[in-house]
Amino acid sequence: MTSWVPVPDGSDFPVTNLPYGVFRGQTGPRIGAAIGEHILDLTGAAERGLLAGPTSMLRTGSLNAFMAAGPAQWSRVRVTVATLLRDETARGRVEPLLVRQADVRMAMPFEVADYVDFYSSKDHATNVGRIFRPDAEALLPNWSHLPIGYHGRAGTVLVSGTDVVRPRGQRRPNPGDEVPGFGPSTKLDFECEVGFVVGRASERGTSVRLSEARDFIFGVVLLNDWSARDIQAWEYVPLGPFLGKSFATSISAWVVPLEAFDAAVVPLPRQRPAPLPYLSGDGASLFGLDLRLEVAVNDVVVSSPEYQYMYWSPAQMLAHLTINGASLRVGDLFASGTVSGWQRDTFGSLLELTWNGTEPIALGDGQRRGFLEDGDVVRLTGWAPGPNGSRVTLGEVAGRILPARE
Ligand code: CA
Repeated sequence: MTSWVPVPDGSDFPVTNLPYGVFRGQTGPRIGAAIGEHILDLTGAAERGLLAGPTSMLRTGSLNAFMAAGPAQWSRVRVTVATLLRDETARGRVEPLLVRQADVRMAMPFEVADYVDFYSSKDHATNVGRIFRPDAEALLPNWSHLPIGYHGRAGTVLVSGTDVVRPRGQRRPNPGDEVPGFGPSTKLDFECEVGFVVGRASERGTSVRLSEARDFIFGVVLLNDWSARDIQAWEYVPLGPFLGKSFATSISAWVVPLEAFDAAVVPLPRQRPAPLPYLSGDGASLFGLDLRLEVAVNDVVVSSPEYQYMYWSPAQMLAHLTINGASLRVGDLFASGTVSGWQRDTFGSLLELTWNGTEPIALGDGQRRGFLEDGDVVRLTGWAPGPNGSRVTLGEVAGRILPARE
């Protein structure tokens, strides 16, 4: 089933995708769905009565109210929008609501409530262990029993296209130094990740079961967890990442509904030792996702990580996040951690690709990088198999490094 809206071959946004975002209209932020090179103005569609049922949630300039309406409304609006874009008889009413993506700027799609970053790739955790603790076991004993995570900073989650100022902070001039230096990070890095947007609140004192996860996860974004490795290395023991991570986290402007990935659901890799009961379930409740990711620095592809090999699943991360009774809020964002495979061209960070800067990578034109330089642009893209041989894409998340401020 195609749309009457022209969708170029290879477009990120066929009618089987229909991700949600917020664009800056002339009168303020408006909710839209991407179709081909256009955006269907859903705030306008709601105002004109083109969407049956409750629609005030689509007039708030942010996805939070829509997400809070719950999974039945998510499905209803998705079906309605797809029908409007496929039904030739709706064209006369709907066409005036199409906005060219090239003509507008995107805003943050939702207000981030709490942000948690996990560490779910066994290959990434193993690589980092080898780099930072070469004389010890790469994986610490807890890693195979729980999805390791930390709480990040919700207020510095940025929409794609937002510049990132190089952070300053304490870092060790040389390995083993006991007194830190201070200044702009010299080891600025990206982390290629997938983020999951929570659309439903939960009651404090309760936990989300694996089988309920699908009803809580509204959608999926690409996420770049910018990381200052020198600041991180000095500060992270004993309480974990702090200022080396909190200066910026970028997400894609489009949130792809979890439903759009039904054809990309794959079994998780085998988990040994068997996880505790609250993290154990059948394939349907655990579900992995076949997402093919790509990282480019200054438009040169440097890595192609595959999400399907991630050890801990989104449902396990969510179950673990709430097993202590912590409540969820609408707009909570949890990320997978760096997506890395076992081959070098699937490593999801420069830390791994350059082995902590010791083996710089080539960017063409004689350019080499151990870590990011001012002016560098990092762009993450991704897609998944869609229905009938089509593709569901995640759009992109891009950001440019600006020099540190005085
Ligand atoms: Ca991370």
